[in-house]
Amino acid sequence: MFSWFKRKRTCDFCRGRLRSPTTYINERDEEVIVCFQCVPQAERKALRKKHS
Ligand SMILES: [Zn+2]
Repeated sequence: MFSWFKRKRTCDFCRGRLRSPTTYINERDEEVIVCFQCVPQAERKALRKKHS
């Protein structure tokens, strides 16, 4: 499983290096950090974008 508490600097979807990270919040109010390539996937999963 993912260890959400550990701040890793890799994309939560593709495990790749984060270049332009975007932070989303999942249904359990956990941060999901994705790279720009995975933003469409996050949008499709209806994750909320974290503001500021
Ligand atoms: Zn990614």
